[in-house]
Amino acid sequence: MARFLPPDAFHSSAPIELLPIRFERRGPGRVLVSNMVGDFISLTDDEFDRIASLRLSPSETLYETAFAAHLIGRRGQTAQLQLLATRLRSRMAFLRTPSALHLFVVTLRCEHSCPYCQVSRQSSDRSRFDMSEETAERALAIALESPSPAIKLEFQGGEPLLNFPLIEKIVANAKAQAPRVGKTIQFVITSNLALLSDDILSFCKSNEVMISTSLDGPADLHNKNRPRPGGNSHDLAVKGIKRAQQILGKDRVGALMTTTDRSLDRVEQIINEYRSLDLDGIFLRPLSPYGFAVKTRQVTKYDTNRWLEFYSKGLRYILDLNRRGERFTEFYTSLMLTRMLSDRPTGYVDLRSPAGTGLGALVYNYDGRVFASDEGRMLAEMGDDAFVLGKVADASYRSLVLSDKLLRMVADSLSQCAPECHACVFESHCGADPTYHHATQGDHVGIKPLSGFCTRQKSVMRTIIDLLHGSPDDATILRGWVA
Ligand code: SF4
Repeated sequence: MARFLPPDAFHSSAPIELLPIRFERRGPGRVLVSNMVGDFISLTDDEFDRIASLRLSPSETLYETAFAAHLIGRRGQTAQLQLLATRLRSRMAFLRTPSALHLFVVTLRCEHSCPYCQVSRQSSDRSRFDMSEETAERALAIALESPSPAIKLEFQGGEPLLNFPLIEKIVANAKAQAPRVGKTIQFVITSNLALLSDDILSFCKSNEVMISTSLDGPADLHNKNRPRPGGNSHDLAVKGIKRAQQILGKDRVGALMTTTDRSLDRVEQIINEYRSLDLDGIFLRPLSPYGFAVKTRQVTKYDTNRWLEFYSKGLRYILDLNRRGERFTEFYTSLMLTRMLSDRPTGYVDLRSPAGTGLGALVYNYDGRVFASDEGRMLAEMGDDAFVLGKVADASYRSLVLSDKLLRMVADSLSQCAPECHACVFESHCGADPTYHHATQGDHVGIKPLSGFCTRQKSVMRTIIDLLHGSPDDATILRGWVA
């Protein structure tokens, strides 16, 4: 008498069914397939056709592969669906801590005159462009009403250090009120550092304020991109970064670059500039179609494909540095890898669906208007009020995030059901970005085949997938960048 039942006895008799999948045909005979939480698997045409038409039997390897990749299941079997639901809930957990970021535009004044500036700055002698104390108090009250237990207040401009006394007051008030509302609060000043002093740094040190700045590359490039009287913006930025690193610590100082047409042939030099300042990575950031970048026609000087060449060359160079033992990261790639290889929720508002617009961040303008996104206030400076949610004087947190305008914007732009996106193999890792599509195409959804955002997202993700499936060395380095 047999002691064990035959293998068939352990197979469910429930019919096989296809779970939600998306796919893209890639190259001759290959198909890239993703399941409902964005795990990728590369299949041959024949394998894909057999899975899609359920021509599979439990005794074969392809059945096991499809089952393990969550492409198929058994009708009535709930364990697999529960696992997918748990992972999806974890990926979407950003919805449980809405509006964790609050941007205070403490002044629109700036002593730089960068032609690509996204904020349409005003000249520095026009004090009517400063935020008042009353507006700041109302904005802080709204920020403290938001449900997230941990929030970040970021001070922006113009150049926020031109209104530093207001920053001091907001930080002091926020710290005094935080225990009452049970919140932890982080502070960031986004500055060009030209006005940085040791007094300001000592305030930052005692209040744990982080510094974020702009660094576009070597001196000649940075000074051309970021002109100021005296032509020394690079010198001041570099001195400021070094001094801030000394006083606050290296991990409290970050820099961002913007790619102009002058940057395109110089990606290695730009990366080397960051390395020379002991910064641990770089965000190879394209120009955004807002503010002065539009007025001065900077955005028309190169297209998405040219930026992609710049990005790919930079990424290859950075991987080479890592292969030679230097730890250095491209931050956008790291962000995408974290989306693709983990189920952690993203903190990056442009890569969310529902969109991070308003739900991820609120922007309090110097004049009391509240915007759903930083780019939205840049559009308003160009005369387009589509992203104004209200005024601090008569708004509450609830009235802003539950306003018809914001709800419509978020509902309209869901990538899970937007044309093209809903069937896109990359949807789980992408975002809705209604501000970009409104700015470039006049509606929140946009026609994705014409969207620079979409072209960039697809190309970056294809590049990353090719690298992960290519040399084992590259794959190991990239897996180490998952945050
Ligand atoms: S924007 Fe483009 S890449 Fe992103 S999900 Fe939509 S179609 Fe896919």
